[in-house]
Amino acid sequence: MNIAFIGLGNMGGPMALNLHKAGHTVKAFDLSTAACDKLAAEGITIAADTAAAVQGAEVVISMLPASAHVEGLFLGTGTQAGILPLLPAGALVIDCSTIAAASARKVAEAAQAQGVQFIDAPVSGGTGGAIAGTLTFMVGGEAAVLERARPLLEKMGANIFHAGAVGAGQTAKICNNMLLGILMIGTSEAIALGVANGLDPKVLSEIMRRSSGGNWALEKYNPCPGVHENAPASKGYAGGFGTDLMLKDLGLSQENATAVKASTPLGGLARNLYAMHSIAGQGGLDFSSIIQMVGKR
Ligand code: NAD
Repeated sequence: MNIAFIGLGNMGGPMALNLHKAGHTVKAFDLSTAACDKLAAEGITIAADTAAAVQGAEVVISMLPASAHVEGLFLGTGTQAGILPLLPAGALVIDCSTIAAASARKVAEAAQAQGVQFIDAPVSGGTGGAIAGTLTFMVGGEAAVLERARPLLEKMGANIFHAGAVGAGQTAKICNNMLLGILMIGTSEAIALGVANGLDPKVLSEIMRRSSGGNWALEKYNPCPGVHENAPASKGYAGGFGTDLMLKDLGLSQENATAVKASTPLGGLARNLYAMHSIAGQGGLDFSSIIQMVGKR
């Protein structure tokens, strides 16, 4: 299948690579030359721009930071034309970015107007899941369109859920990430408290992992350096899932909570803690660096 892949960052890069390894023809593009060079070295064709990437593509997959990037890519900005008008009727768009459900619906409506199919398919599983091809996809859109996308999603992920109509994938994703943001802070607090009392973070983490506090961070994404060799914490909090991206997702969950008049007190508190961490200059570090905000000074 001819696939255009736009956005080759921490997640998009390994996802595009898995499609390439599965035998698909991937033409990719990213604004970052470094990101493009990395994939070119793996044998993936890099297009000169987004318009060139989607030429002849049956499927377009996007993995961009936020709503504005996705709307800009497909619908255009004040200065740049979007790529939707370049796609033939019958093409399929799979947006894997985490964005507002309203933005997903806006792009889907514009796509439908020209006979292009669209699903929102945000992911969970981190960069490790993207590399291993074990991501969880949360899909919003028509069931038949998901079935068309499924063979491709299966090359990048291990779990594929149909959350509901267009936008429902994004709603599921912000609920999940609100929980993740909160649990990373809670896990950080517990480890920092133990360390302040002289406990070995490895031993404490293992105790909690096998006890009632066990969670995903303790399983594979420990915020304390040296506990998990491959976690961002052990690599200077480089790569992984940026604090600013977590801040964006918690902002989306709070906007949504306001819209539906829901009370999400811990989600609000978590958003403010990540915002303080970002203002302190750590927005580019992996979100597990939030452990630096807690514990004994
Ligand atoms: P990233 O910042 O590493 O990568 C985003 C890439 O998009 C960058 O390389 C950037 O240059 C590129 N880009 C931006 N605008 C572009 C445009 N108009 N055309 C082409 N390229 C453009 O981000 P990431 O960590 O890969 O995350 C991507 C999305 O996936 C985000 O919405 C994020 O919230 C979500 N997500 C990330 C993780 C994670 O662990 N990193 C996990 C699940 C979901």
